Amino acid sequence: MTVLADYPQVAAGKVRELYAVDDDLLLFVASDRISAYDHVLATPIPDKGRVLTAMSVFWFELLADEIGTHLVSADDPRIPDEVRGRALLVRKLRMLPVEAVARGYLTGSGLIDYDRTGEVCGVALPPGLFESSKLPEPIFTPATKAAIGEHDENVTYDEVAALLGEEDASRVRAATLKIYLRAAEHAESRGLILADTKFEFGVDAAGELVLADEVLTPDSSRFWPLEGYEPGRPQPSFDKQFVRNWLLSPEAGWDRHGELAPPALPDHVVEATRLRYIEAYERITGRAFADWP
Ligand code: ATP
Ligand code: MG
Repeated sequence: MTVLADYPQVAAGKVRELYAVDDDLLLFVASDRISAYDHVLATPIPDKGRVLTAMSVFWFELLADEIGTHLVSADDPRIPDEVRGRALLVRKLRMLPVEAVARGYLTGSGLIDYDRTGEVCGVALPPGLFESSKLPEPIFTPATKAAIGEHDENVTYDEVAALLGEEDASRVRAATLKIYLRAAEHAESRGLILADTKFEFGVDAAGELVLADEVLTPDSSRFWPLEGYEPGRPQPSFDKQFVRNWLLSPEAGWDRHGELAPPALPDHVVEATRLRYIEAYERITGRAFADWP
């Protein structure tokens, strides 16, 4: 039997930890931590790590026809019991240092850039678009990874080409748009709009581009309910709306722009958020979360 302590930890991000299983394999572990307004909150959301892991596995399977993925197994004896259900055995890759973002709708940092320049990441868009507008076609809007606590920085395709080389930049762009379209099509069949999403790619020993990291979870994507979608105003976020609303409420008494970390979440917000994550999983996949290990 394996325990987590058998494996050296190789990295820790805001919500995930990586362990080396051997020279070729990593254990990719999702925690129950949640971030909002660029802070990792003190209160975890029970089951969030398992829900996001289950969701990633669903998408990796759905996208396997489109691209190679880093997933090896979600159910392998090398996965320790203590993290079973929220850990994946994955292929270790040479990661490309780019956040590969696809947008089908205009919101967030894309909207800010558009309002200022009429472009997003160097992609010119028609005039007259506003919050939550559907774009004429999905666009590739890459960003470079920021350190913890800082915002990722939007960059142009040419900057990505300077960073990765023309060949890798062009295959990352093509893969990003292709899998966005496939995922958005599936989401729509389940009554959801995939407004935008972020992928990370790596390159394997054979030089193939491989889809890595987590995929198409509420942490890396914006899913909006199709029903009630209305451009011109922000759409309700599927997962973190309770958390965000509460953090900005008088009850929380927290200043989003101040120096202090956000307060602990009350139980009712934790439970409502947990149920939202489970609902998102079940809606997207058509599977029951109770069936996940
Ligand atoms: P954050 O997502 O919190 O902004 P982060 O991306 O640095 O920070 P995590 O997402 O928590 O950290 O951890 C995942 C890390 O593992 C990322 O650095 C990602 O690039 C890397 N990674 C994902 N898949 C693989 C893989 N197959 N091989 C090697 N590294 C990987
Ligand atoms: Mg990450």
